[in-house]
Amino acid sequence: MSSKTNVDCCADGHDAPALKLIEALSRILAEVRPVGGGETLAVRSALGRVLSADVVSRIDVPSHTNSAMDGYALIGTDLSEDDETRLEVIGTSAAGRPFAGEVRTGQCVRIMTGAPMPEGADTVAMQENVMRDGDAAIVAVGQKTGQHVRQAGEDIAAGSVALRAGTLLMPAEIGVLGSLGVSEVSVRRRPRVAFFSTGDELRRVGEPLGEGQIYDSNRYTIFGMLTRLGVEVLDMGIVRDERDAVEQAFATAADAADAIVTSGGVSVGDADYVTEALARTGTVGFWKVAIKPGRPLAFGRIGDALFFGLPGNPNSVMATFYQLVQPALQALAGMPDPAPPLTMPAVSASVLRKKPGRTEFQRGVLSRGDDGRLVVHKTGHQGSGVLSSMAAANCFIVLPEDAGPVSEGDEVTVQPFAAFV
Ligand code: AMP
Ligand code: MG
Repeated sequence: MSSKTNVDCCADGHDAPALKLIEALSRILAEVRPVGGGETLAVRSALGRVLSADVVSRIDVPSHTNSAMDGYALIGTDLSEDDETRLEVIGTSAAGRPFAGEVRTGQCVRIMTGAPMPEGADTVAMQENVMRDGDAAIVAVGQKTGQHVRQAGEDIAAGSVALRAGTLLMPAEIGVLGSLGVSEVSVRRRPRVAFFSTGDELRRVGEPLGEGQIYDSNRYTIFGMLTRLGVEVLDMGIVRDERDAVEQAFATAADAADAIVTSGGVSVGDADYVTEALARTGTVGFWKVAIKPGRPLAFGRIGDALFFGLPGNPNSVMATFYQLVQPALQALAGMPDPAPPLTMPAVSASVLRKKPGRTEFQRGVLSRGDDGRLVVHKTGHQGSGVLSSMAAANCFIVLPEDAGPVSEGDEVTVQPFAAFV
């Protein structure tokens, strides 16, 4: 322990043992209030944004009852139960060109997929089940009344909520807005997130490396993860391991942003000022989570801004960001219940070292084995500084807090990276 201020005394009494991951997440989410303010955007520009109000449909989707098949529109009660049915073809209904008349008993209308059902008809026989004989259609036995008809409003009924406030607008959602004929939507402002790296050993790319120096990679991974999440980013560069520099950066960031993400300086070395500066300039929620990589992790608040002090090790940054920061930023963006990352079982093709005590996120490559089951291999050396193991991976292998080592052939839980956008 260093001779600096002991942050334990400032951290509300729940500081000494590391928090369970699930508890850390629920404490973080309990602190988050969605950003205020918003704007109205054209639907395409709203891709990736979060709705600030329910979208109520003014129309039925589909707007008219229509055929789901190419075939013949007919009256169900005309169908013979145990024989073919002969009907007179009185016209055609095509998509966008409806049949104007009415179908009476003994009649049918040639109909295309998506074309409006003609007045009187309630059933479609697909063309594969119909033979033509001049103006007559001979319908095969076995058709069911009401089949192959899409009812008006069956997708979305007029007056119903098509999309709720808090919905993230993905391609399907902007498609739904298109289907409603909506051209503009109200969305929340994007959260503004300031980030910087701490460390006297860090250099920017383009600068020469001196003795004991390394390039700052965390600002690249953090930039990438924030940008993919769709937040506004404010890159504050590298901050030196000095108390005043760190506190000054905190103040600047808290003024400018809704959330602050830093890396490095959260453990208890002599040059680690982040947790201490958080205690002095804001409030510390907690600063240890039972997660590997990543145990020291400072969460708190500076002014109105949420604060996430991530560890310095590159893999710790990515694991803690995805598990704890991403859901918080989604909630900050206005998504009420960010879905937990998708997990699935897989067979481990590797021996995995693990001691009980922390939830571990090892890096793996998930694929399908010859027997059709999902198989996961670890990606080489799993050290928390080995970022190439993350780049080579396509999933986390999630090993529960209480679990011990994994043998080849054991079932494990994986989290595909696709879950993290
Ligand atoms: P710290 O948490 O500051 O003690 O840093 C832990 C480890 O992560 C040290 O080996 C640092 O050199 C390394 N590290 C810290 N910040 C960065 C960064 N921005 N990019 C790459 N490595 C870093
Ligand atoms: Mg450091």
